[in-house]
Amino acid sequence: MRKEERYKGVLNWFNENVPVAETELHYDDPYQLLIAVILSAQCTDKRVNMITPALFKDFPTAEVMAASTPEVIFEYIRSVSYPNNKAKHLVGMARMLISDFGGVVPSDIDELQKLPGVGRKTANVIASVVYNKPAMAVDTHVFRVANRIGLTNNSKTPLETEHELVKHIPEKMIPIAHHWLILHGRYTCIARKPKCEECGLKPWCKHFLTTKT
Ligand code: SF4
Repeated sequence: MRKEERYKGVLNWFNENVPVAETELHYDDPYQLLIAVILSAQCTDKRVNMITPALFKDFPTAEVMAASTPEVIFEYIRSVSYPNNKAKHLVGMARMLISDFGGVVPSDIDELQKLPGVGRKTANVIASVVYNKPAMAVDTHVFRVANRIGLTNNSKTPLETEHELVKHIPEKMIPIAHHWLILHGRYTCIARKPKCEECGLKPWCKHFLTTKT
């Protein structure tokens, strides 16, 4: 199957069957989303959603967070993975937001990556979810699912996957395609044993076509 045909089939299927796909992290504004995404590294969205209400209530703005200390923040986030580092990142991020960005979460991928705790994946999530930019954040699910379906050619790195997906997916679809692939990887095309029998992408999926038929 030609790549164009595969992309077309997969995107059409998602478009028809999953018209709404959004982040599962709870947030009310860009500052809160940035915190939630930093906390979600190597951790489940469910766990992050359990701890953010208290954190957002007591640290409602970057100014308040910037005036705090990692030791104080640690107590709020101790149940997520790597709480020490993340506490330092959150306070550092808030301080830099105030000192360098006037308290506003930037939309530019390079500027976002200057913030402590913000790598390329987090920067792409913010650019895409908050600013609706055609940025594709590649996490473990997107990386695996894209390779399995054959949207990428056994890509070796998240950056390779990102470039390949951005090249083939129409710009206006990129923000939602990011969520389609994540949710598909989280609930259907799961890491250990993909649920191929109940998956609607079978007609275009390289993994299925080469192993199950
Ligand atoms: S058919 Fe199987 S391997 Fe392919 S996308 Fe669906 S669940 Fe994943």
